[in-house]
Amino acid sequence: MTTGHQLRLYNSLGRRIEDFSPSAAVTGMYSCGPTVYAFPHLGNMRAYVFADTLRRGLRWKGIPVRHVINITDVGNAVADTDTGEDKLEVAAARERRSVDDIAAFYTRAFFDDMAALNILPPDEYPRATAYVGQMIEFATRLEERGYTYRLPSGLYFDTAKVPDYGALALLDVEGQREAARVEHVEGRRRKTDFALWRTEGPGQRRIMRWDSPWGPGAPGWHLECSVMSIALLGPHFDIHTGGVDHRELHHVNEIAQSEAWLGDGQPWVRYWLHNEFLQLGAQKMAKSAGGAPRLADLTEAGYHPMAFRLFLLGGHYRSQLDFTVTALDAAQATLQRLVTRVQPLRPLPDADTLAIATARISDRDAVAAKLLDQIDAAIAADLNTPKVLAILQDTLREPAITRNGQGVIVAACDALLGLGLASLDPRDLDGRRDTASLTTGERQAIEKLVAERTEARAEQDWARADQIRVELEQLGVQVTDTPDGPTWDLR
Ligand code: AMP
Ligand code: ZN
Repeated sequence: MTTGHQLRLYNSLGRRIEDFSPSAAVTGMYSCGPTVYAFPHLGNMRAYVFADTLRRGLRWKGIPVRHVINITDVGNAVADTDTGEDKLEVAAARERRSVDDIAAFYTRAFFDDMAALNILPPDEYPRATAYVGQMIEFATRLEERGYTYRLPSGLYFDTAKVPDYGALALLDVEGQREAARVEHVEGRRRKTDFALWRTEGPGQRRIMRWDSPWGPGAPGWHLECSVMSIALLGPHFDIHTGGVDHRELHHVNEIAQSEAWLGDGQPWVRYWLHNEFLQLGAQKMAKSAGGAPRLADLTEAGYHPMAFRLFLLGGHYRSQLDFTVTALDAAQATLQRLVTRVQPLRPLPDADTLAIATARISDRDAVAAKLLDQIDAAIAADLNTPKVLAILQDTLREPAITRNGQGVIVAACDALLGLGLASLDPRDLDGRRDTASLTTGERQAIEKLVAERTEARAEQDWARADQIRVELEQLGVQVTDTPDGPTWDLR
């Protein structure tokens, strides 16, 4: 079997690049899924494109994977607090729909985005509401083992009982970041302690409620991921992924409760991988803040979902990325060029794994063999997708490669990047939006900004004028100053 370069991944547990070696015949991989109370935004989707990239990298190395992504349809409270209202219930009240409707609707929206982004479907999509019984059993064992204490507001995990609590986040528990947990909970012993069960307060009646030994209520958010991952992947598994925000709190708590529950002195999960954030105008994109763009906003504006995927993969998953229309335009143009060049090579061969790709390359095609080795080295080095993209572009410009070799290399890059190069039609990639498609509201908003910019310039407030120009660029608007005043167009 062809093994190539040793796969190395950045493990947040220890914060270093390590060799990845599977501990079982099938590698268990769990990715924290969406809370289905609103549309997933572009930042959320970066987390799943990243998990997909990892899956494709493992497939490339011939490592079988069982992948689980959960659907959080209960348990995540507003502002990530322990006593706040459940996000699903707040959304149901806001939209005057039942919680079941809300969960079903936004779960479907998430699945649509997953499919549009060509993300390999996981083996399981467990829903938290289907595991509440097991969550209660899990918390009961923790209580029996003395890891918990009861308060009127619920059952709390006592983080003082776990000597290395917070190792993943490199937390200094005494001086733990105040900002992360501002909520005051009456009787909580340490601010790191978290609710396993959220009991209904006097006079409160949750919509989603279950009976439990601690009174009627709902599970805490962290509990669900421990319970569902262990139920579906076994007590220990190899890989857990999520956005970098989870590294500081959610995953810390998952580890604490799971290791307490297991009680075998072994690390629960061996590799923790986290994607950095996608930023919009240097702001964290937060679903709860509202207004963050989603994939449908891009497709309505004439972008192909694969242009967004290409934009994401043009950055390394551990680098912050700034979302701008300029970058997305560049990605769509690159994709169109790529597809146009790939078209004559179709149909592309199957080259999903290094072994298959190697077998398909002729012994006499030294150029293809070298490119294949470069691809393998890049993906093995903590999933260096920008490098794989660069190699793909080199391949299409390479004069000394055989046509067969070129097809294999392109197919290998496509298997790793998931851009759909085997089937995309270049005509689907030139959907530039024209001004006629703007709504009246959009047009008014643009004209207001343009007028404000003109005013700022008249007042010689150049900083403000530049800032407005950037805002306009983010909306895809190009302003040109003419002797008769500014004009604008969509780029
Ligand atoms: P949520 O639905 O809020 O639980 O988030 C789903 C996933 O998206 C989690 O893995 C988050 O860590 C991740 N995530 C949230 N916001 C961003 C962002 N702006 N960029 C990248 N990942 C994010
Ligand atoms: Zn989780």
